[in-house]
Amino acid sequence: MQDWQQRAAELYNGDFRPMFIGGKWCEARSGEVIEARNPASGEILATVPKGGSADIDAAVSAARAAFEGPWSKFTPFERQALLLRIADLFEKNWETLCLSDTLDMGMPIQRTLANSRRVLGMLRFYAGQAVAIHGQTLQNSFPGEIYSSTVREPIGVVGAIIPWNAPIAGSVWKIAPALATGCTVVLKPSEEASLTVLMIARLMQEAGLPDGVLNIVTGLGAEAGAALAEHPGVNKIVFTGSTATGQSIARAATGNLKRVSLELGGKSPVIVCRDADIEKAVPVAAMSVFANSGQICIAGSRLFVAREIHDEFVRRVADFAANLKIGHGIEGDTDIGPIISARQSERIEMFLQAGPSEGAEVITGGEKLTGEGFDGGHFIRPTVFGGVKDDMRIAREEIFGPVISALPFDSIDEVVARANDTPYGLAAGVFTTHLGTAHKMAHRLKAGSVWVNMYHAIDPVVPFGGLKMSGYGKEGGLEHMDAYLDTKAVWINT
Ligand code: NAD
Repeated sequence: MQDWQQRAAELYNGDFRPMFIGGKWCEARSGEVIEARNPASGEILATVPKGGSADIDAAVSAARAAFEGPWSKFTPFERQALLLRIADLFEKNWETLCLSDTLDMGMPIQRTLANSRRVLGMLRFYAGQAVAIHGQTLQNSFPGEIYSSTVREPIGVVGAIIPWNAPIAGSVWKIAPALATGCTVVLKPSEEASLTVLMIARLMQEAGLPDGVLNIVTGLGAEAGAALAEHPGVNKIVFTGSTATGQSIARAATGNLKRVSLELGGKSPVIVCRDADIEKAVPVAAMSVFANSGQICIAGSRLFVAREIHDEFVRRVADFAANLKIGHGIEGDTDIGPIISARQSERIEMFLQAGPSEGAEVITGGEKLTGEGFDGGHFIRPTVFGGVKDDMRIAREEIFGPVISALPFDSIDEVVARANDTPYGLAAGVFTTHLGTAHKMAHRLKAGSVWVNMYHAIDPVVPFGGLKMSGYGKEGGLEHMDAYLDTKAVWINT
């Protein structure tokens, strides 16, 4: 067993961690800082610069200079080699990256460690795509020898804004395809979790990334984030976060009509049919929400269960929830870590009160943990609500915490209609042993990803992204390359 405590003490000791602009490690022009706290204990891990619009200006200039200068000279094979070197360095430093993430945002270490396939796979998959970018030769209808073709070109300077709930995957998923296509990046991590993103930039610099190709500006959303979203020198914004912030980013982007991709919130349904394999479905349905303390965009927080098996199934999910170990993510056997901040915890507690006040019944959980082991942090007991109605707030609004709303259903047509009756469309899960039901549900559910007899599967080769108010644009797969490429038509009259 790793001595994570010892390694944690060596990693962060309250010192200042600079941000990364134009290949230089620097403080904010204002000199102000933000405290990075461990959400499990409240302890200050480090301070980071509180970047603002002047820092964003400098980062965008550096990204533009790199895009038009040294980076444009890199051949696709050189970009591929660089991405592969970055992947190797990440693999070598994987435990340190994961430890940093666990300390900075609370995700249990066993879960961060398990994400390596997804993150390293992303770097290696897009390394492959760097040498596979191609246009087409098109037969046109003009008489004579006039040739038409398309060329795929990098879109330019990309502004990336990410949330706090998965800093490693969240940043790498945006950076890797951008580098593969030849774009440059200004990334603003969440003010709640910047430290691992800064570590990622150090590794990329060590791997040989030219100055200015990746810039990290730490700071607040309303300041550094807003400045990046509206910056006229940015060609594309890729954003992951809440739907409300996504809307304001889309508005801010209109100034120079920059392209926008949005990965937003959700209220995803998990549907357990009468013929489901209950033994397999219980832990998966439970962890579809409780993983990362419910702080996951795809949380399957509306649990629809066929009425015949509803009470038994929900009781078993509640038993599973009650047996999860809650604690500091750094303890190797922790299943459920802390909530990121007091603000998020208060929001979840508001829903824990709204449920019973609207008539729902707490089957398990329903409270914040206090006392020994929980001091200074925010820990919410995994919660299952029964007696939920579709129009209750707990069944309609994204909670972003470890809270399941269980709802019985009587027929496939009915449950599909109810599952789709939400402004969101990020993900959905179905448990059935009937092939016809699996197909029917997969086609009729309005969600960007539908998992049958599984949940949470995300892979570099498979596109991921939402429908409706869960956003637009895909991450992962070949589709993600399109987010960073323009298509130019070339006509030649010989
Ligand atoms: P958030 O929207 O508050 O913040 C996300 C990022 O946007 C942060 O970096 C923040 O500083 C920045 N920001 C805030 N206001 C801004 C503004 N006005 N202009 C520009 N940037 C601004 O979200 P959060 O609380 O950090 O994360 C939780 C949300 O993210 C949830 O809604 C969750 O569903 C969503 N999320 C979605 C996905 C997905 O892939 N669809 C993945 C993870 C999280």
